[in-house]
Amino acid sequence: MKLDRKPKVLFTINEIAERVKKLGMEISEDYDGEDIVVIPLLRGGFIFASDLVRELKIPVNIDFMTTSSYGHSEVSSGIVEIINDVRTNVKGKNVLIVDDIIDSGYTMEKVVEFVSMKEPESIKICVMLDKPSRREANISPDYVGFTIPDVFIVGYGLNYGDYYRNIPYIFTFDE
Ligand code: 5GP
Ligand code: MG
Repeated sequence: MKLDRKPKVLFTINEIAERVKKLGMEISEDYDGEDIVVIPLLRGGFIFASDLVRELKIPVNIDFMTTSSYGHSEVSSGIVEIINDVRTNVKGKNVLIVDDIIDSGYTMEKVVEFVSMKEPESIKICVMLDKPSRREANISPDYVGFTIPDVFIVGYGLNYGDYYRNIPYIFTFDE
């Protein structure tokens, strides 16, 4: 799939690495003396989560959940499905849900509601990117890499159609 629009880099590899390192320090301090279950949301959250967990200095158990995506659309349908659940028993555990981006917030709202039923000790949310101006659900992340305006993002886990999740920097399109 070729890009039919002109890419514009928003965050470089170095800027991302620096920010992720700081987030890792902050999270490690907040959970000092405890351990956590990190739940990356597939597919978009896998790149960010893999960088983030390597910056954590606390004991980390990692398990995955898959949520339905927008498909090829650039706007949320508002209907979110849990396609794959974690296998770990998170009852009484500190859960950190990790995703690439929070936009309308419907995905996180659904995941938090779903994970809450498993009776964890705590649930927190960490996203690389936050688009607060797009929020519709009543939810906000505890940890944010970068707050951004309402632009469509690609790279660092985020897809354009079926591709470009592997691009190591974060870009948008020049209008
Ligand atoms: P929400 O449910 O908060 O509206 O959207 C969350 C999910 O939508 C993200 O995990 C991501 O998969 C997708 N998404 C939201 N904004 C963008 C974007 O700008 N670019 C891409 N590629 N996906 C996005
Ligand atoms: Mg996603």
